[in-house]
Parts: sequence; C-alpha cells; structure tokens
Amino acid sequence: MAEVEEKMRKVVKFGGSSLASAEQFKKVAAIISADAERRFVIPSAPGKRFSKDTKVTDMLYACYALAEEDKDYKAALKDIKVRYEEIITGLGLMLSLDSEFKKIDDNFKNKAGKEYAASRGEYLNGIIMAHYLKFTFVDAAEAICFKENGDFDSEKTNELLSAKLAKLDNAVVPGFYGADNTGKVRTFSRGGSDITGSIVARAVKADVYENWTDVSGFMVADPRIIDNPVSIETITYKELRELSYMGASVLHEDAIFPVRREGIPINIKNTNAPDDKGTWIVESTCQKSNYIITGIAGKRGFCAINIEKDMMNSEVGFGRKVLQAFEENEISFEHMPSGIDTMTLVVHQDEFMHKEQKVVGGIHRLANPDAIDIESDLALIAVVGRGMKSQRGTSGRIFSALAHANVNVKMIDQGSSELNIIIGVRNEDFEDAIKAIYDIFVMTQL
Ligand code: ASP
Repeated sequence: MAEVEEKMRKVVKFGGSSLASAEQFKKVAAIISADAERRFVIPSAPGKRFSKDTKVTDMLYACYALAEEDKDYKAALKDIKVRYEEIITGLGLMLSLDSEFKKIDDNFKNKAGKEYAASRGEYLNGIIMAHYLKFTFVDAAEAICFKENGDFDSEKTNELLSAKLAKLDNAVVPGFYGADNTGKVRTFSRGGSDITGSIVARAVKADVYENWTDVSGFMVADPRIIDNPVSIETITYKELRELSYMGASVLHEDAIFPVRREGIPINIKNTNAPDDKGTWIVESTCQKSNYIITGIAGKRGFCAINIEKDMMNSEVGFGRKVLQAFEENEISFEHMPSGIDTMTLVVHQDEFMHKEQKVVGGIHRLANPDAIDIESDLALIAVVGRGMKSQRGTSGRIFSALAHANVNVKMIDQGSSELNIIIGVRNEDFEDAIKAIYDIFVMTQL
C-alpha cells in the first residue's frame, strides 16, 4: 500500500493590528508563505494603525447605530470602505468590494442587526486575504454555528467545519462570527476571532494553533504596571485560565476550550517580530517555569461581605442559606474564605452595588446572622504557577515582600491544587503589591 504522507497543519490567526494596513498584510503573507504548513488562516478585522486610530469593528458598530436610528450613515460607511480600499490598493490587487458594500448598505437599511454589522469587518478582510494569498474563502456564516439563543453550538460546528475543511488544502475563515440555524449572523464577544481560530484548529486537528498579535507572548506581569516585564515561555491551559480570568489579556479567555479538548498547543507570536519564540500554551509540560511563579495578574473593584454568627461552625446549612441570598439576586461570588464564626464572600463591586441591600436583607431573612459588614474597594491579585506545587516558602516569600512594601493583606485564598494564591489588598495598594511580588520572584533571580 502506498504511503500517504500526512501534511502537518497549522492554523494561524492574525489579530487586527496585524492586518490594519497593506504593510501589515505583507508581513502576514510573508509569515504564511515561509511555512507551507500554515494552511488555515483566520483574520480579524483591520485594527488600529496608530494609537489614536479606530478599529474597523468599532466603526461598523457606530455606523450601524446611525442606521438603526434612521440617521444618515452613508459617510460613516464610506469611511469604512476607504479603509479596505487603502489595503487593496497598497497590495496592488485587482479586487473591487463595490458589490459587497452595496449588499451591506441594503442590509443596514433593512436593519440586519448589530452582530451582522460588526461581522462585516472580518468578512471583508477575509475576502481580501483569500484573494491575496490565493487561498479558498470559507464564509464563517456557513461553517460556524450558533444556537438561536446566541450560544455557540460547538458540536454541530465541529462536524460541519471538519467536513468542509477536509476537502481543502488551504482556506481563509474570517474570525468573530457565524450564523444560527435561521441564517442570522451572530458574533462572539469582542476579541472573538481568537475563539474562531481555536475552533478551526480543533476541526482540522491542527498540530499547532498559532495566534499572531503585536506582542511576543504573555508577560509575567502587566507591562502597564511593571516596566519591561520578562515574558512567559511556556504556560499550561490551567495557568492561563487563572491569569486571563484575573485580567491578563492577550488571548480571549474562551479561546482555550476548543483546542484544549484535542490537546493542541497554542503559540502566541508577534507579527512584527516573527523570529521571537513567543509563548507556548500547552496542556501539560515538564518544563519548569523560570521563576517558580508563572505569572501575576489582578483586578480592582471587588468587595467583601463579612458575615458573623456565634457558633456558626456547628450550624448545619448556614453556608447554604447565605449563598441562597446571593443566588436569589443572581450574584456570583469569586471567593469565600471562612473562619470559625465568620464567613466572607468576595464579589464584583459593580454587580453587587445596586443589589446590596436586597442581598443583606436576604441573608438576614434566610440565615439570621449576628452581624454583616461590607468592605469595598478591594483588589484581588492572583499569583499563578505550576512550580509552586510542593515548593516550600512560596507564600512566605509573597507575604514578607508585601510586608516590606507596606501592603496590608486583607484576604488570602490558596486552592488545594497549589496552582495559585489569591491575595486581597486595598485598591490603592494594588500596583505596589504587584511590584513587590514581581521583584521578589523575578528581579532577584535575574
Ligand atoms: N474584530 C473583533 C473585535 O474588535 C473581533 C476580533 O478582533 O477578534 O473585537
């Protein structure tokens, strides 16, 4: 039997800043043609060309808002067309988007919906990209399925998309959108092209999902707080989930789920520095992170509801009753540290604020506590790292560093997985706390 050599498959997603201009498109094409395995391409809409610029997606939302209010949107639509024409001319392509813009205009007139409007950014960029690379264009509306309630339909999509892509040697699938079974265009949340890339990687059983952006991967800490932080070479899905949840934003937080099912690694790469290694996101690794901790991330804007009751420890069902008060008001909690006669729930302040008295009333009614005290303006910091497991002294180092930096620790929560330690501090101590933790784990090791 003749040996059929299986070609490797890489799925490559390019973010908006990587496709903001003809010049950026050229870099992208050079990256794709440098490796024949880069066969499936997911483009975002054109992003910002310079810091004060506007992303095409935002232009589309604004333009459609005018159409929806029956205001004149023609000039706004023309501005969007100009953005694409600049790219087409800069690439020297013989391609006209006139008929596409005519359709978009008609659909705007007929109020096709905000999600349809936003999706056109990726759709049009996909057409240009496919034309430029001479790859097959696959409209995501015919391959990425949503349910009528707007939720993504993962299994139906996987079936349809794998069948479609199996027949193709290469393809461009625009990111960010799909359609429900009535044909209505639906989008993911902002930044959702990352999710499309992951879905395509799963469907073609890719060897790697390369996510090309404008930074060389994840940094150990937020560069807005730490000057020139070191980057993370390898991170596990679980660590990334912890860090993204706490605000580290390079990749959409839902983008790990489809590839995670297939154990496909993600490589975050920089379009403007393609030789940089970037960050590898993997299921599991024996590679140690360089600094015990893998990363630090955090968010401001939490509050803690402290509930006290004598003999709480022996009252069966007390916790359930308290949680019921939160559930009845549809508030999810982040953490729940407890003592013998106290229990604390940490929640997002902006969600909790306008329901606070209802929740407090509910706790009194259901659980009859002795006292309830609310502490606001807290920040949570997650120190994450697979290297912390079974390492003595990690928390000791964190807390002595915070003490030296004069930061008072309000709350500590360490999961038994030993993957992360969550620390609650006052909002105003947030940056100092992150700097102190970064210094003790990274700066002292350099
Ligand atoms: N263009 C969309 C946004 O700006 C989706 C994406 O870029 O991933 O959010």
